Amino acid sequence: MNKKECGWKNLDESKRVEIFAFGDSYIQFLKEVKTEREASKKIIEKLSQNGFKDIDEVSMLNVGDKVYFNNRGKSVFAAVIGSNSILDGVNIIGAHIDSPRLDLKPNPIYEDAKLALAKTHYYGGIKKYQWTTIPLAMHGVIVKPNKEKIEINIGEDLQDPIFTITDILPHLAQRQYEKKIGEAIDGESLNLLVGSIPNEETDSVKENILKILNEKYGIDEIDFCSSEIEIVPAFQPRDLGLDRSMVASYGQDDRVCAYALLEAIINAKVEKMTSVAIFADKEEIGSYGNTGMQSDMFDCFMHKLLDKMSLNVPSALAKVYSNSKMLSADVGAGIDPNYQDVSEVNNSSYIGYGVELNKYTGSRGKSGASDANAEFVAYVRGIFENRNIKYQVSELGKVDIGGGGTIAYILANKGMDVIDCGVPVISMHSPYEVISKYDLYSAYLAYVAFLESYEKVTY
Ligand code: MN
Ligand code: MN
Repeated sequence: MNKKECGWKNLDESKRVEIFAFGDSYIQFLKEVKTEREASKKIIEKLSQNGFKDIDEVSMLNVGDKVYFNNRGKSVFAAVIGSNSILDGVNIIGAHIDSPRLDLKPNPIYEDAKLALAKTHYYGGIKKYQWTTIPLAMHGVIVKPNKEKIEINIGEDLQDPIFTITDILPHLAQRQYEKKIGEAIDGESLNLLVGSIPNEETDSVKENILKILNEKYGIDEIDFCSSEIEIVPAFQPRDLGLDRSMVASYGQDDRVCAYALLEAIINAKVEKMTSVAIFADKEEIGSYGNTGMQSDMFDCFMHKLLDKMSLNVPSALAKVYSNSKMLSADVGAGIDPNYQDVSEVNNSSYIGYGVELNKYTGSRGKSGASDANAEFVAYVRGIFENRNIKYQVSELGKVDIGGGGTIAYILANKGMDVIDCGVPVISMHSPYEVISKYDLYSAYLAYVAFLESYEKVTY
């Protein structure tokens, strides 16, 4: 019988210590990284400290070389060169570093009812009611035509001010209560409260706020049109539970897999197969644009690898792809004790029970699914079983009640074998997502094992 067993049981003390230490450094990473730009920067910093070089500064690639490619400061690709020919395929793991949030609109600041506010446009699949009446921080960049780039980070330091989106008091919420939950908060009412003191002469609160922005950051109102400012929860990542077994934080989809992958590509003992790590942007809105995985930028990176090994003959890239194997490192849905009815228990994950494999994603009759071949699933579970890594094989939820996708299909379309493999999350896409430290560590071990693997999938 295939019995599910909690990972925390029968754990020896040294392992427990390792899991908690890994959890601590993960929490530190989450504290410093709340946007794809901040994640890219941190990832490149850590890669550089561990011997990875900018691929554009390397002319030839040899066995053991480590390189990264910085895609516009918003996504990163990295590789460690193995001894086998790259034409025999590579081992790829791909996570994403963007998370659901609110973006400031290009013309954000306005005044209404004697208060200054900022307009937002939400990014990714959020439940809008979860984003009102919580402390919010502002992260991002404002770029001027003279190329000056002003970095904004307001609301993380305890001395900083924060922002919030107001909501109706219950006393007057009669009409709001009658609405469906998905319609209770209008997208155009997700307006950030940013000030209340009027200008002495003109009585304008907006003018006073613009004056502060000008004095503090040297920006004018027009400069917002060339900015990317993300509004994210100002909560700190924290240990969760009396046993400290879990992590509560914003942005764990998908920075939990991104962190496990970063540690894996740094620490894996790559010998035969070339290892590739993808830290993608724009997954939450369909992977579009030149920092998303639908673009040709990943091909561009792979061409650079082939060029620098003098192997870039016609059709070389197609050959690499058709021989490659990939884990799409994205989160899954952990069973929520309060809402178990959306999960089919035989095919769902419990947090703390190990890394999750999703044979397929998609929705309603596997529409839009990237469905891993049985032969490849066997190959991957074989790798995990050889190292006693706990895994659980799941679906996102019950049939016909929803669904979702990852970057898996995009890489599968290029011809490689792909399966989704990540950490189960509770309260996914909320301002405060929950994971188990055991699953985070299992994902790390699973990614190391996969990167170190070198056998062929037998069909
Ligand atoms: Mn995700
Ligand atoms: Mn997501």
